[in-house]
Amino acid sequence: MITREEINELAQFEDRDSCAVSYYFQPSTPRNKAHKEEAIRTKDLAREALRELERQSLDGDSKIKQKYEAARADLDRIMQLSHDLLSSRGNGSHAKAVFACSSRNFWREYELPAQLGGTELRIDRHFQLKPIAHLLGAFPSLGIVLVDRHRARLFDLRLGELTEREGFFHPLLRRGRSDGFAGHDGGHAQRRAADEVLHHFKAVAEVIKDAIEKGIFERWILGCQDTLCAQIEAHLHPYAAQRLIGRFPCELGHVSVIDVREQAERIFAGWQEKRCKEALRETLSQARANARGVTGLRRVLQALEAGEVQTLLLGENYHAQAVECSGCGHLDAHLVNYCPACGRETRQVVDVAEAILPWVIRRNVELFYVKDDPEFDKVGNIAALLRYRSEQNSNLRSIEERSRNFATNRNRREGFVARPGGIDERMIL
Ligand SMILES: [Zn+2]
Repeated sequence: MITREEINELAQFEDRDSCAVSYYFQPSTPRNKAHKEEAIRTKDLAREALRELERQSLDGDSKIKQKYEAARADLDRIMQLSHDLLSSRGNGSHAKAVFACSSRNFWREYELPAQLGGTELRIDRHFQLKPIAHLLGAFPSLGIVLVDRHRARLFDLRLGELTEREGFFHPLLRRGRSDGFAGHDGGHAQRRAADEVLHHFKAVAEVIKDAIEKGIFERWILGCQDTLCAQIEAHLHPYAAQRLIGRFPCELGHVSVIDVREQAERIFAGWQEKRCKEALRETLSQARANARGVTGLRRVLQALEAGEVQTLLLGENYHAQAVECSGCGHLDAHLVNYCPACGRETRQVVDVAEAILPWVIRRNVELFYVKDDPEFDKVGNIAALLRYRSEQNSNLRSIEERSRNFATNRNRREGFVARPGGIDERMIL
């Protein structure tokens, strides 16, 4: 399975000659019947991509031609791989993603949960990340904590894969027990047992708080006996309680991994749907009040570039054109030929919903895809909730000004002073 760091690496990858190949393989059901269809689909997609490469390489120099040959090799390898995937046994349980750019020595293969929209192949400047963004959902990491009177277990749920972190609670729990009860020898046995359970809950709560602070997980789900729920939650740090998205009854010693995953996925799906609705309502109402919300492609792009976006909402089938600067990467909703930020030439971006994903992933923006919402449709199917709003009607100039101010402040802090009439080289960040 893919990690957030790996997704980040993909998001940052760029091949200026547009030879970055992304391939998503979704096994279809029923398996035996669909084998042929999937094989044909991959072949068709690869053939289409090759035709496009050939068309582009016609007016390119020999270096470009070499690059296209390399891309052709990637496509051949992908076709072979899809052939292997279809003929191997056990196919159907996982989807697969491949990201390749052999002229840059790049080849990555990942297994994904078999929940992709379909098999896809694309060659572009950047890797295609929308299918992964869909799977990631609105947040990257979910912890499932199972607790009983004496024990605790932690599972991670990521992209449909549930893994247990063995011994996660162990060190703290042992320490808690030994130093907390050394002096209670004379006490009543029953009372001592009750104290020990409370102490255990406290220690678990402490570990959960630490784990959230360290980013081990961002949201979590509690699994325990119904009768223990209230006691456990009474010990939670407010910060940890806020991030608890649901609970389910379970016997820590007997529960199966499949059961934990099903419960967690059910709770997560419900939470995500609710959270998406809330975020949408809040964003639209903030936008109407001209406060911490913006709607429409132009304003959302500006807010993204200024680093103001906390939550991004995109229509499920949102599609729009834009241009991207070949120099600084600035995205503009106006189809201008030259970048308003740095003056260099721009190029057309066919699908802006795809082009903004690297920004979203790099900046850890919460992302929701909104399905058929008439109110959202009215505002253009794209909106963002902001962390803050730096200025009303912020525009490119103000973004530039801000980065200049940042440079000046930083130089001041570091003791660099610009000479009058000349620019100190160190001023340029
Ligand atoms: Zn630019």
